Amino acid sequence: MDFELTQEQEAIRDTCRDFAREVVAPAAEELDRHHKFGYDVVRQMGELGLFGLPFSEEVGGAGGDFLSLCIAIEEISRADAGVGITLEAAVCLGSSPIYAFGSKEQKERWLPDLVAGRKLWAFGLTEPEAGSDAGATKTRAEQRNGKWVINGAKQFITNCGTEIPAGVTITAVTGRSGDESEISALMVPTGTPGYHVLESYRKLGWHSSDTHPLSFEDCAVPAENLLGARGGGYRQFLHTLTGGRIAIAALSVGVAQACLDAALAYAKERRTFGAPISKHQAIQFKLADMAMEAEVARTIVYRAAAAYGREGAETSDELRMLAAMSKLWRTIPSPGTGGM
Ligand SMILES: Cc1cc2nc3c(=O)[nH]c(=O)nc-3n(C[C@H](O)[C@H](O)[C@H](O)COP(=O)(O)OP(=O)(O)OC[C@H]3O[C@@H](n4cnc5c(N)ncnc54)[C@H](O)[C@@H]3O)c2cc1C
Repeated sequence: MDFELTQEQEAIRDTCRDFAREVVAPAAEELDRHHKFGYDVVRQMGELGLFGLPFSEEVGGAGGDFLSLCIAIEEISRADAGVGITLEAAVCLGSSPIYAFGSKEQKERWLPDLVAGRKLWAFGLTEPEAGSDAGATKTRAEQRNGKWVINGAKQFITNCGTEIPAGVTITAVTGRSGDESEISALMVPTGTPGYHVLESYRKLGWHSSDTHPLSFEDCAVPAENLLGARGGGYRQFLHTLTGGRIAIAALSVGVAQACLDAALAYAKERRTFGAPISKHQAIQFKLADMAMEAEVARTIVYRAAAAYGREGAETSDELRMLAAMSKLWRTIPSPGTGGM
């Protein structure tokens, strides 16, 4: 087993680290304080190729791997997790399902702008009564005159209300088989009549990220906007969420590292009893715990990311468990680190 990053992964890490320090960090306070979306930062991330990192060159991507994307998300989130989640949601939730399950026409139509970061695509799964229990989707779509007509609501949807949205892929019940709902994925381009992006949430954090509820009222999209097979929506979102979990865990590793960076810098600057507090053993214990927690989390996230990249569209039970563990480990406050 090789724990070393490849030269390419190291180059991506260094580029993103420099970019985060020089571009994302200086903008972070202004974006956070005024709840602004960082259009200029997003444009520059697009120019760096970050929105196309794990996609093939054939669709305009950089031909990198999933671990490289996670490293990029970690480094960007070290400076601003709101910008990190913008990248994570755009790539893992927006573009990836189109890349993995889309038809040739869908890929050709949508991916060029998405992989360049010129436009953002959203993923609408969560509903007021379908969050963790995502299969409880109530949004419905029925076929009328060669179109899918959608009615329902989604909540907490990232990247749908900016000035550069291209559309959203939603899950909807399209029929029943026995007691089970048939769930399909449908692509709804921005501007489709009956597709409404409602007022933005007032969140406690991630202020530079864009999050809105959505409503669909007799919203009709062409039959060819079905993404993948009819009834395949449940399987698709499980796959999408496995990658999404790992990438969110990578984001959290970036936040943990930022906490350690800030704590270490402060401990060297703040003095008591004639010495920087970093010289006091009680503080050293805390810093050591924080460094250890961040490193353990990074290791499990990188392992899950490398496995996800290898396994492709058919993920194993073991990988799904590893992905869930990596997210659980990093996003649940752990004892001794004050929920770093
Ligand atoms: C900022 C932000 C951005 C988001 N972006 C998107 C997006 O782009 N697209 C999208 O589709 N969704 C998005 N989400 C939604 C997110 O995926 C959901 O919030 C998540 O799935 C949890 O659903 P919920 O909020 O309805 O909570 P619930 O599922 O209602 O859970 C509430 C609480 O109950 C607990 N709970 C749930 N089930 C069980 C159980 N069986 N046993 C014990 N406890 C349980 C949970 O742990 C939680 O503490 C976003 C959310 C946020 C906050």
